[in-house]
Amino acid sequence: MEERTRRENRSLPSIQIRTRGQVQQVYRYRDVLNLAYQYGLVAFEQAAPIQVVMVPSQRDPERMVPMFISEVYAIFRNADGSLVRFHGVGDCSYENAQPNVAAAGPRMAHTRAKARALADALNLDANLSEEFDLSDEGATVAADSVSRGSGASKQVPAEPRCSRCGSPMSQRSAEYSMRIRGDLVCYRCAKGS
Ligand SMILES: [Zn+2]
Repeated sequence: MEERTRRENRSLPSIQIRTRGQVQQVYRYRDVLNLAYQYGLVAFEQAAPIQVVMVPSQRDPERMVPMFISEVYAIFRNADGSLVRFHGVGDCSYENAQPNVAAAGPRMAHTRAKARALADALNLDANLSEEFDLSDEGATVAADSVSRGSGASKQVPAEPRCSRCGSPMSQRSAEYSMRIRGDLVCYRCAKGS
């Protein structure tokens, strides 16, 4: 068994999200990527050209909506020096990502594909936050008890604004940002950093 597949004794911060009433424990892509490099990630390779296909809308099956699909390999070096590759498929549409993310459909599909490949390679026991549409009215992000607690004591102002772009933030995302980053950073800026 390769070291990277052992779940015990590794430190991978997780967060809780609530989507449509269900609480889920998830990892963030950047944390998983960081772990992957520690465990021998060498490179990603595009497994197929990014595709865009038309699929029936979940909300209105009469209507067709575009979906981007990306396929990648994550290549790892084993302890004995041999290389092993893990395949991942990711998709993105206006129905499974928030609108400003879906506008960058190929990129989000690509990130999701890489996330899936890394999840298999590292034997992860939870999904990645990037796989969920966190902008939904019903989606909130709850306590991050393990990663960074330093921001928890800071107060969220009555009318929170992003410290980077200045746009207004909801109370909910402001609280989340404070807890995770110790600073007010909107979803859009956080995604871009
Ligand atoms: Zn911002």
